[in-house]
Amino acid sequence: MRFLVGGCYFLFVVCCVRAEGKFDFATTPGKLPKEVRPTDYAIRVEPDLEKLTFAGSETVKLHFDKPQRLLVLNAIELEISSAAIDGTNLPRKAIALNASEQLLNLTLPNEMAAGEHELTLSFSGKINSQGQGLYFARYQEQGTNEKKIMLGTQFEATDARRMFPCWDEPSFRARFQLTAVLPRNLIAVSNMPIEDEKEGQNKKETRFAITPSMSSYLLVLCAGEFDSIESTQSGIKLRVIATKGKAEMGRYALESAGKILRYYNDYFGTAYPLPKLDLIAVPGGFGGAMENWGGITYYESALLFDPKNSSSETKQDIFAVIAHEMAHQWFGDLVTMAWWDNLWLNEGFASWMGSKCTDHFNPTWNEWLRRSVPRSPTRRVGFKKDTAMQADARSTSHPVQQPITSEAQAGSAFDEITYQKGQSIIRMLESFLGESVFRDGIRKYIRSHVYSNTTTADLWQALTDVSGKPVGEIAPGWTEQTAFPLVRVERHGDTVSLTQERFAVHFPNPPAFRWQVPLTYLTEDQPVTNGFLLRDQSANLPIELSPDHALKLNVADAGYYRVEYDESSWKLILGQIDRLSEADRVNLLIDAWALVEANRKPLSHYFALVKLVLRDDQLAVYDQVIDTLSFINRLFAGDPVRPAFQQFARLLLGSSFDRVGWDPKPGEPGQRSFLRGSLIRGLGLLNDSEIIAGCRSRFDQFASDPNAIPPDLRADILGVVGRYADSQSWEKLHRFGLKTNSTEEKQFYYEALASAIDPRLAPRTMAIALSDELPTSRAAILLPYFAIHGEHPELVWEFGRTHMKELLAKQDALGINSFAPSLVMFSSSAKDAEALQNYAKTSLPDSSSKEVAKAVDEIEFRVEFKERLRPQLKSLIESQNP
Ligand SMILES: [Zn+2]
Repeated sequence: MRFLVGGCYFLFVVCCVRAEGKFDFATTPGKLPKEVRPTDYAIRVEPDLEKLTFAGSETVKLHFDKPQRLLVLNAIELEISSAAIDGTNLPRKAIALNASEQLLNLTLPNEMAAGEHELTLSFSGKINSQGQGLYFARYQEQGTNEKKIMLGTQFEATDARRMFPCWDEPSFRARFQLTAVLPRNLIAVSNMPIEDEKEGQNKKETRFAITPSMSSYLLVLCAGEFDSIESTQSGIKLRVIATKGKAEMGRYALESAGKILRYYNDYFGTAYPLPKLDLIAVPGGFGGAMENWGGITYYESALLFDPKNSSSETKQDIFAVIAHEMAHQWFGDLVTMAWWDNLWLNEGFASWMGSKCTDHFNPTWNEWLRRSVPRSPTRRVGFKKDTAMQADARSTSHPVQQPITSEAQAGSAFDEITYQKGQSIIRMLESFLGESVFRDGIRKYIRSHVYSNTTTADLWQALTDVSGKPVGEIAPGWTEQTAFPLVRVERHGDTVSLTQERFAVHFPNPPAFRWQVPLTYLTEDQPVTNGFLLRDQSANLPIELSPDHALKLNVADAGYYRVEYDESSWKLILGQIDRLSEADRVNLLIDAWALVEANRKPLSHYFALVKLVLRDDQLAVYDQVIDTLSFINRLFAGDPVRPAFQQFARLLLGSSFDRVGWDPKPGEPGQRSFLRGSLIRGLGLLNDSEIIAGCRSRFDQFASDPNAIPPDLRADILGVVGRYADSQSWEKLHRFGLKTNSTEEKQFYYEALASAIDPRLAPRTMAIALSDELPTSRAAILLPYFAIHGEHPELVWEFGRTHMKELLAKQDALGINSFAPSLVMFSSSAKDAEALQNYAKTSLPDSSSKEVAKAVDEIEFRVEFKERLRPQLKSLIESQNP
């Protein structure tokens, strides 16, 4: 349903040229003809857990807009055994699968009239291990250690068609009724509650209630030997479902989900529309989750919290992931983007909403800053804003809204630009429109499009209608253009002049773009946030400011742009650094480092700031600095300048660690343990002998005394032990990793193994990626992790090339294009770029080409940056060590 537009709409539509229109089913991109629409599916699936296959059948009610001779729908890796239309069987030759296009063509017996029809299909397929379509996961049962198996589905973006033939594009909404036939000991879960269950001799047939109208990628089926805990919130039954023996660890998630549901019911102004919501923990992998309507799946470590052994960081991640996935129940599930070119609508919004909700309930966590700068690699779920900005400054970036024409492109769209740039744009818009006006716009958007699809233009329309401000004029520059602006600040007397240009790194003469930039700023005499919309290439700030008073733009790092100050303005800011918030200091650090990368400032510009901010033990400040030091340390691996750099960097951080110490002090703030962990990891990486010895001795005691390493420090201490492991300690870490049933702890051990820099251990580490001792998803990312942390990308590349077929078989839809490039992406040797390009030509599918280009650009940047930094680094070190 489209809503009527208000008067002010016409005013704005005249003055802005938009590439994209509002949602219209007929003109929505996609492969499938729009003249035939499914309205109802009844699907029956019977998995065989021995053979890892399934048999299926379905009846699909269809509506033809016009008479049809041919039906075109999606299917892949399915055998179709029979097809019938309105009860008439189709001959074999009328059924044609087109594997490369993932289409099923059914030639009808004659031209069939417009109106209602019924298609019946029987089919069979395979249950896979890499999380595409219907998959299995093997695990050791908690308490018994017996080997068990469970089933799950992952359909986003384009894999529902692997379980049943369907109109598998998001704008083809329909109602689904799923029936599963399974061994009697398994419990089946889907989007809706169970409607009927029939027990047979060995098997049980479970029929679920009919879903509301929704997109096919949101259907879910999980089955296993489950336990659950439950509660009721606002009339909705909430459950956390986990494999036997683990449900109680879902207590924190269940409590969080209750709060979050109440918050969203209010925020969206439309109550959660299904009768129940299940949060399902899938054993094994790490990090991911999927927002299936009413049945969200999570990898265990993103849902289960063990108060005795889990870290506080895991707890924060769990809340944030639940908040993100639950936001999708409205933004994504109830209202769905029309096509994958608008994936950002789903992901950017859910990321922003999840952060806003997490921050609301947990103000001491500094959620926005958590989303801004990277912490130690892969531990934190989700993308970081600064990582997105780094990618977006390159020639290989893309607009938030990008054309998607193939399944592979849809799979590649789930990147930092979609999530984090998307989230940042929403955040800027919210602050520009004001919190309550923005919320009213979202309420209107949801209300107007329930059970339907939208484009970005529909969102701008709702926000414009409610705010009366030209959202449709400001926003498309951020979503339809690549990159973002650099705002240059120059002071002349009491005038502040601002100029914008496109910010680029390793990209000479990029095409020029212009944005409407909703700026925020603070001044020394007016330390409250002010706003100014920079519409043109340059403008003066509408204030008079005394030439000796400081000015800071991009307050609290909330905007998606960078700022370059002239010399005098920069000096004034440095003079006021003590008065700035942690977020503002982080923002200055991020921009200062980016300006060094862009060759606009020397290295000393960044380090002059670092020296001023490493005083107040602020976590995000340290994380930014440690991340940068780690980057430089990796860049100069094997280089003669590295030992001197490490000494220089240790001196910068050492006194902070002396203050923080190994052991918690009574009454210290909650974030202090994170800072302790960051410093241990950072100093360990920088070869600090005392830290390394301290980590080793704690690990030695850990076997007999688990309290020797508190949960909050485990990842960091084990990481240091792993980095400098000899054969004996490598084996010990491996034994511990094999033994533990905790997904979280297993992750720490295997990351530690994959951090070992002794090249003699490399064959052992790499062999794990081919074995089945880790869940498939985890085994798949062990090698990229090792390539970054083990410091021998050449060994990883050689191994990867030799075993590429087996390794690619372990990738899911999102990993398949980026896996090979990820093995060398962080190299700073030109010959690796060449090797990847040559390999891609002969051995990788075309769908990998964007990821290959990104990796090649990254390597070439590192080669150039390393040469540029070396002399600067030397003189910086000399100036610090007289
Ligand atoms: Zn999401």
